Amino acid sequence: MSYFHPPYASWGWPEYQAALIACVQFRVHSGPDISELERQLSQLLGGSQVFAVNSGRTALRIGLEVMGKLRPQCKEVIVPSYICPAVVNAVKSAGLKPVPAEIGTDLNLQLNSARQLIGSNTLGIIVAHMYGCPADIVEFEKLTREAGIFLVDDAAQAVGEFANGQMLGTFGDFGILSFAQSKCMVTGESGAGGALVCQNQEMLMTLINQLQALKPAQSRGRAFAAFVWNYLFTSHTRLATYYWQRICRPSHREIKQEGIANLDAKIALCQLKSLKRRREERIRILDSYAKYLQSVGYAICMPQYELGRYLARAMVLLPHGVDLDRCRRDLQLKSIETRGGYPVFSDENFVSSSAKEVAGRLLELPASSTMSNMDVALVCDRLMEVLQGNNAFMAPRL
Ligand SMILES: *Cc1c(COP(=O)(O)O)cnc(C)c1O
Repeated sequence: MSYFHPPYASWGWPEYQAALIACVQFRVHSGPDISELERQLSQLLGGSQVFAVNSGRTALRIGLEVMGKLRPQCKEVIVPSYICPAVVNAVKSAGLKPVPAEIGTDLNLQLNSARQLIGSNTLGIIVAHMYGCPADIVEFEKLTREAGIFLVDDAAQAVGEFANGQMLGTFGDFGILSFAQSKCMVTGESGAGGALVCQNQEMLMTLINQLQALKPAQSRGRAFAAFVWNYLFTSHTRLATYYWQRICRPSHREIKQEGIANLDAKIALCQLKSLKRRREERIRILDSYAKYLQSVGYAICMPQYELGRYLARAMVLLPHGVDLDRCRRDLQLKSIETRGGYPVFSDENFVSSSAKEVAGRLLELPASSTMSNMDVALVCDRLMEVLQGNNAFMAPRL
């Protein structure tokens, strides 16, 4: 039986070849590919200043620290209540206070909710483009300019996408990109790459000093091997993965603040080259899911879907009352690996009703570039079987 899993990375021979060359030439840690990557990313992003680092969170934390120094009296950063926990942690480790705000039906930060939270302690807003779906970043740029606060354009999941004809990651004061697993460009697991995109001239000098002090990431050869084994060969290595992970993974998953390694930059260059093709493949699969799910006649929706829109992940919103964990277990028994959504981020003053509404019902379906339309239909059929077995209340579409 075929085994389907969420897309971790879409790699071909060029990525493996690049890794091999980096090893043979002893250019795993440092080498010329780092500055070449920065140059090509800058070109993609319309000439912005780009600094490659080892992860999105390193970029975010350093950017936030520099922002914080410019307005030391302001400590609050508004973030979406539905967000990758790494963002919340980066805000905290920069010595700042994350303040959650509501999300809209597209799972992105809601403009009005963020506006209401702006106060005299607000340093800035982090806007993320959830699963690649562009947020209302143009409006956020206006809002933050008027309020005199910073804007961070978190394009970790949306490299190469744009809003209003402008590349995501280039709005506001600074942006971040990530090359971790399941993003648009993948060089390995979290810690294998990311970038900071700077627009704010006031931040630039301090940023350059901080970034130049970073050492290139260490142990990248081993991390590369672990990634290939645990993620890319997962259909073959599932049983053996557990033991490998115990041997190969550091016990704590804290990511150090480091520069990008040359090995990862070299792989990133291959991923940049295939970005457009992989984008088109993803759109085909998303369209196929949307068509098929609509034809089944049940109320399962893809909240961010729009015909022809790229999304980094194929997320579906299951009907109310579904036991998500059970559903995922049942799908696993049918050789379909899935993922849930992020946990809701709330604080003592605010629990987001919008994020709570959806977080427990979001399910990520497999969407590897090798999947045919028949495979998509198969995954959907199995999902229906599982939901029916789950006694879920499957309201027919009106
Ligand atoms: C993945 C992600 C990050 C962090 O990127 P890493 O490279 O894993 O550190 C930040 N923001 C968002 C929205 C992300 O999805």
